[in-house]
Amino acid sequence: MTQKIAVLPGDGIGPEIVAEAIKILAYLNTDMDLGLEFEQGLIGGAAYDATGTPFPEATVALVKNADAILLGAVGGYQWESLDIAVRPEKGLLGLRSELQLFSNLRPAILYPQLVQASTLKPEVVSGLDIMIVRELTGGIYFGQPRGIKTLENGERQGYNTLVYSETEIRRIGHSAFKIAQKRGKRLCSVDKANVLECTELWREVMSDVHKQYPDVALTHMYVDNASMQLVREPKQFDVMVTTNMFGDILSDTAAMLTGSIGMLPSASLDAHGKGMYEPIHGSAPDIAGKGVANPLATILSAAMMLRYTFDQAEAADRIELAVNDALNSDIRTADIYTEGMHKVSTSEMADAVIKALKVRG
Ligand code: NAD
Repeated sequence: MTQKIAVLPGDGIGPEIVAEAIKILAYLNTDMDLGLEFEQGLIGGAAYDATGTPFPEATVALVKNADAILLGAVGGYQWESLDIAVRPEKGLLGLRSELQLFSNLRPAILYPQLVQASTLKPEVVSGLDIMIVRELTGGIYFGQPRGIKTLENGERQGYNTLVYSETEIRRIGHSAFKIAQKRGKRLCSVDKANVLECTELWREVMSDVHKQYPDVALTHMYVDNASMQLVREPKQFDVMVTTNMFGDILSDTAAMLTGSIGMLPSASLDAHGKGMYEPIHGSAPDIAGKGVANPLATILSAAMMLRYTFDQAEAADRIELAVNDALNSDIRTADIYTEGMHKVSTSEMADAVIKALKVRG
């Protein structure tokens, strides 16, 4: 069966790192007969320059027809003064809402070889492997009414609305339980049910959805405790599921436990497993075009694509093991370089992953 991948390199280092991830996918495609097909499109600043909009119609059609999307990053200094409606980031938001990508997967993995990159003690973070599932299209970031109004006494008042329907909670619940089934089968739902009625409902619905996943162990935790536990004993978690705002904050904390932004992948999925896969970092305009960016976050995003959209666990495992093998050697891109190691370019790092794939067979 053919699997269509829309490839959107975007801006800055995007084209450099995406080209390397495609090299890895193309190798596995031939080696394992995965039936992957690639088609490139424009997004972000590159799309604005070529067409006057960051999310052109041709790209809308491309992503709608694709089974999965591989994205580099968008944005850069030269587009910062543009009207907000045509800024590169608008292309990304358009993509998320067009495809209803409500389930944001943010793994935080710390390879033992890079343990010195974390600010936490090695024994606390070495071997860390957490998945945070963040609800991405609802909650307080989208709730109405919202705004800043002037009260009768002349004082201004800002307000937002935290709102979740049962349907929204149920669908992110199903997404998270399914992910837990593919991992360590432990799910921690994070809320503030002691204070917020909206998340009281969240907790109730999560417990109800749990009945359909008896093989997964469900726990509940208040968000203040969860943030504390993430830095105190992060390895206690397997999968965490939470609201848009709590997930925004907790996933950044979890990412920083690992200390290396160039290593972390992410996925945003719809209700049918179709997804957009991208590194968590931005377009890094400061190093764009120099061939020094770390391609591993994008390569690991490609592995997530194989696991979560294409159900190709073996191929995903192969990439993740090959990345581990590459890190076992002394090669490092500049962002993860430490003394005594051998500094390599973007493509040399990806070549090392391909070499490891070949060696393992
Ligand atoms: P950034 O993540 O692009 O860069 C932060 C720092 O990390 C920089 O010093 C950069 O060189 C370094 N870095 C990032 N990725 C790296 C990699 N793969 N290898 C080595 N070093 C890497 O964040 P920023 O500087 O705040 O933003 C730059 C641009 O990216 C802005 O226009 C911003 O809007 C955009 N952005 C896009 C996305 C996205 O496309 N999803 C996400 C965040 C930021």
